[in-house]
Amino acid sequence: MNLRYIILPLALLATTCANVAPVTPANVAAPAMSIAAISDAYIRLTLEAGTHEAEYVDAYYGPPALQDAAKANPRSLAQLIAEARTLTAAIDAALPSLRAESDRRRAVALRGMLIAADTRLQMLQGRKFSFNDEAQGQFATVPDLKPLAHYDAILANLETLIPGDGPLAARVDAFNERYVIPKDRLQPVFDAAIAECKRRTMQYIPLPAGETFVMEFVTGKPWSGYNYYKGNYKSLIQINTDLPIRISRAVDLGCHEGYPGHHVLNLMVEEQMARKNGWKEYEVNPLYSPTSVLSEGSANYGIDLAFPAAERLAFERDILYPIAGLDPKSAQAFWEMQQMTEALSGARLTIAKMYLDGAVTRAQALELTQTYLLLSPARAEQSVKFTDHYRSYVINYGWGKDLVRDYIERGNPDAAERWRRMEKILSEPTVPADLLP
Ligand SMILES: [Zn+2]
Repeated sequence: MNLRYIILPLALLATTCANVAPVTPANVAAPAMSIAAISDAYIRLTLEAGTHEAEYVDAYYGPPALQDAAKANPRSLAQLIAEARTLTAAIDAALPSLRAESDRRRAVALRGMLIAADTRLQMLQGRKFSFNDEAQGQFATVPDLKPLAHYDAILANLETLIPGDGPLAARVDAFNERYVIPKDRLQPVFDAAIAECKRRTMQYIPLPAGETFVMEFVTGKPWSGYNYYKGNYKSLIQINTDLPIRISRAVDLGCHEGYPGHHVLNLMVEEQMARKNGWKEYEVNPLYSPTSVLSEGSANYGIDLAFPAAERLAFERDILYPIAGLDPKSAQAFWEMQQMTEALSGARLTIAKMYLDGAVTRAQALELTQTYLLLSPARAEQSVKFTDHYRSYVINYGWGKDLVRDYIERGNPDAAERWRRMEKILSEPTVPADLLP
């Protein structure tokens, strides 16, 4: 794909965002504020916004007194939107005087967080955006989506490659269900997977002393896994067992939630940005912001980075299959099935856009999800339920991964350079536009 046509250059972002959230120096007076003062105000704004939506603040590890103050006396949505626009105007006023590259990047990233806050707070007021405007406002990027027709040829090809009777989705789902990890083996399989994800990550990225995580298995969640970052280099990783977990998910989730995914990103952000640079805005992480593109994108790409194709198959077959009590000789076939169906993954976002823009009903979205992602009705329901809940956040996975991969693999560098670029994304203020050529 050609990203240049999809992602606007940074200079145009303000214009585009203005369509979503009218932030311009013309209609908002720009107070003279230092970036540090804007950062302090942004933290208060975010914590107060968190009183209006339970999931708004994904992580906070700054002084508890600030959070207590926000909860005791939060401003209204309208006041917070006005504050976000004032602070954005203040950044625009401050940007020309910033000389150091790191200061400019910090300010640009903070600006994106404020536009996201403005957009999200408007949504909490009940405003409905188009899928693309919602994505642009919250995540500073609009995905390049292929029409469903693009995936028809892939489906037709799979029809001939995958034998059996009945609909293709049912055949694939039945095949994949043979690779479910028995419930009593989940813990040791995940322990082994995460340990290997960590070992591979530590070969390239030094991790701070004392970093650690707790893992729990839970039910009744709209996601398959979640990393709750607690600060001080500690994470709580939860794995949802509502639906049977297939063996491939151990490495997926171990890398995505743990190493080099969310856990590593969060501790690098804390170590490098919040502590070393004193950029306090990184002590709070709102769920909906351009940071999520980098967070989910690097977490998904981190799976491929840590386990280049053949290495992953070997590890799963030789280590995880025996622990799970699955036949290692069957690993190759499951691996090939995943490779064959991977090209369909982009259909997830196309369906989400069609559904959220009202082009198809929920029932149609469910049917399309089964057909194009080759899922059972129960797994399709879980997928659409995620879209119901998180809406355009879904772009951060597939599209975020595309952006991160395109950046890290540009010029086909060796493994050391790939990991160096990954560490740069994790430890510097990065916005989606930074990933473009
Ligand atoms: Zn994630």
